[in-house]
Amino acid sequence: MTLLFVADLHLRPERPDLSRAFLEFLQQEARGCDALYLLGDIFEAWIGDDAPMPGLDAIYDELAALSARGTALYFQHGNRDFLVGQAFLDTLGASALPDRQLIDLPGGQALLMHGDQLCTDDTEYQAFRAQVRDPAWQQQFLSRTVDERLAIARQLRAASKARGAEKSDAIMDVNPQAVTAALQQAGVSLLIHGHTHRPAIHDDQISAGSGTRIVLGDWDRNGWYLQVDDDGYQLIDFPIEP
Ligand code: MN
Repeated sequence: MTLLFVADLHLRPERPDLSRAFLEFLQQEARGCDALYLLGDIFEAWIGDDAPMPGLDAIYDELAALSARGTALYFQHGNRDFLVGQAFLDTLGASALPDRQLIDLPGGQALLMHGDQLCTDDTEYQAFRAQVRDPAWQQQFLSRTVDERLAIARQLRAASKARGAEKSDAIMDVNPQAVTAALQQAGVSLLIHGHTHRPAIHDDQISAGSGTRIVLGDWDRNGWYLQVDDDGYQLIDFPIEP
């Protein structure tokens, strides 16, 4: 049994190196694996299934081919690609995961999250998140033309970037109490998430016992993935050719 987990690829037309690396990953490492979990921010932006990000057709095709060959494909939303919908996932043969998902692993159950929900010190971001995750907001946004949506997305990104520049590193990381609460609520001791771009395996993240938090890395100069098989788990990185 082999399960693979990735997050935060931030695929976009301006970075064909990332697309190439992911394509190779799908054709080599992911080939024949039992399941591939896409844990959010796979795409740098997503303005609706009627306007998929351009320049990524080879990726979409390869994901569809992977699932057609029998690999289970799961997609969890990130803070960039939260508008990926069932219509697009259907074209990939992928299943949507809720924001918190429990899965069975050889060593016990694990909680999967993108991770942005755990950055509770960033109250400004959490307010923004509540806004854009509101079905009414999404419905209104999706009813606009593609050009209007692109313009709004640009504004939101610029505002988010400006806000992010003023924030301390601690605010941008997960809040330890939020991690503990999420694990205790789920009744598990293993959390797998991305979002923070701080790949690591942390132990003892739960106050009332021992726990493990695996943070997936973002794809930039290196690609990152978590591999879980009968021997345990491994957080793996590899260089991306520019
Ligand atoms: Mn994110």
